[in-house]
Amino acid sequence: MPQKRIRNLIVCLGDQLNRDSAVFDGFDAASDCVWMAEVMGESTHVRSSKVRTALFLSAMRHFRLALEKEGFRVDYRTLDSNDGSSDLGSALARSIAKAKPARVLLVQPGEWRVQEMLERAAKNAGVPLDVLPDRHFLCSTDEFRAHAAGRKQLRMEYFYREQRRKHGVLLDRTGGPEGGEWNLDHENRESFGTKGPEGVRKPRAFKPDATTRDVIAVVERMLKDHPGDLGGFDWPVTPAQAQDALEDFVEHRLEHFGRWEDAMWTDEPVLFHSRLSSAMNLKLLSPRRVIERVEQAYRSKAVPLASAEGFIRQVLGWREYVRGIYWLHMPDYVQRNALKADQPLPGFYWTGETDMRCLRAALTQTLESGYAHHIQRLMVTGLYALLLGVRPKEVHEWYLSVYVDAVEWVELPNTLGMSQYGDGGVMASKPYAATGKYISRMSNYCKGCRFDPAKSEGDDACPFTTLYWDFLLRHAKGLGGNPRMALQLKNAQRLTEVTVRGVRARARAIREGGGQPV
Ligand SMILES: Cc1cc2nc3c(=O)[nH]c(=O)nc-3n(C[C@H](O)[C@H](O)[C@H](O)COP(=O)(O)OP(=O)(O)OC[C@H]3O[C@@H](n4cnc5c(N)ncnc54)[C@H](O)[C@@H]3O)c2cc1C
Ligand code: SF4
Repeated sequence: MPQKRIRNLIVCLGDQLNRDSAVFDGFDAASDCVWMAEVMGESTHVRSSKVRTALFLSAMRHFRLALEKEGFRVDYRTLDSNDGSSDLGSALARSIAKAKPARVLLVQPGEWRVQEMLERAAKNAGVPLDVLPDRHFLCSTDEFRAHAAGRKQLRMEYFYREQRRKHGVLLDRTGGPEGGEWNLDHENRESFGTKGPEGVRKPRAFKPDATTRDVIAVVERMLKDHPGDLGGFDWPVTPAQAQDALEDFVEHRLEHFGRWEDAMWTDEPVLFHSRLSSAMNLKLLSPRRVIERVEQAYRSKAVPLASAEGFIRQVLGWREYVRGIYWLHMPDYVQRNALKADQPLPGFYWTGETDMRCLRAALTQTLESGYAHHIQRLMVTGLYALLLGVRPKEVHEWYLSVYVDAVEWVELPNTLGMSQYGDGGVMASKPYAATGKYISRMSNYCKGCRFDPAKSEGDDACPFTTLYWDFLLRHAKGLGGNPRMALQLKNAQRLTEVTVRGVRARARAIREGGGQPV
């Protein structure tokens, strides 16, 4: 840290690695200094996977090198510094005390907790802190607030249409949706049948360079008890690599993305998904660039509309929407528990050791590599926690820990809201509750599993199916006013008394076994 008083101390967090960020506007190398810090608190406030931490730190160190090459002054704190700072607030306070900047600049962080911590550190030090808007996103938080104002209920679909119109994405000559429909979700739900997927090409892998290898060594040493296997680390850690990952996806997987977006298959963790979330969330890759490139692939007839629209809906629709929801409802949102779920998270979520083949596959893959695709997160790990009745905050903390792309603005609404219905319907119009038959239809997991997805009672009944009926019985009253639940609840009412008794007894036994079926 230079001893001379500096004008602006520019905070650059681990998920703010975009050179076009507002904090760099008007940067003056003679009087400004960029501040970056690796702190243990960010890996321990939830038990962050080694892969997640290594990805953030490696991308940060590469960004620092790129800034220094451009002539920026960077005050960089490494994870193994012994300066007594264990969290971002105390690390910033130390640097402020040393450098005595006239002001601190910060782009709105991806987590309410972090913004609060940094604002407090600057306030205590008596230095003004400016929070600037995050230009990475296509919809600002103010714009989302305006969208939400006066609406009784928010739905992604209307927001998505607005964004398509506003940004001129996939529109026809009349300004309507390309192909006549805004949403081709009905074409995005195929399974692989019994044959299984064909022509799946593994995503482009990025071999760790010297910087990443250094990070891996530090993480192995300092977070040895955390989940994650760094042996196969291959994530993009620079903007150039992120761009290569995008090209690799567009060329080799996008064509089939739409059709098999919801399908799952043993030992095929990525299938036709992009694996671009971490690159976008760290801001190595701009969502605008991603959307443009995908639309271009469609316009040049390289990919079908259902794939291009399905993918753009995720990035321009869901990704922007969940961020709006996060900032609209925080800080209270994290405490919500609309279904009054009170069970602890099963211990096997940290080991993958369970006879339930679908969960074993999704958990093992997640714990090792830090990745699972959307349907595995929503309809396997998320669904089981929902049906079992796990406290949503615990589910949220697990997801925040284990996924490489986990930053709270995107993880929390997806987990607590979409998958656990903890927000009582803000994110989803009804709980995503289903039996094991859904998993059976969309994957090959049930083949060879000791449980039967069609059965709800007895020792070989699929725990998802048992817990599904138990869920409907437990919440019949609370969800009774939701017209979208009417059919499911009616079916639950039709169960015989004997079945109800059998379901309840088995569900109780599963809960008493910590979520593990006997
Ligand atoms: C319980 C749960 C937790 C999740 N936690 C996270 C998280 O921590 N971080 C995260 O980035 N995504 C999260 N998601 C959303 C989604 O599952 C991941 O973005 C996706 O699986 C990442 O893999 P991919 O890049 O191959 O995605 P693809 O399937 O290729 O999708 C393309 C892109 O669309 C975006 N996207 C897709 N679905 C969503 C969504 N529901 N919300 C926001 N963006 C979306 C992502 O940026 C993704 O890279 C979560 C979903 C659920 C159900
Ligand atoms: S039978 Fe049930 S537990 Fe087994 S893989 Fe299928 S859904 Fe999962």
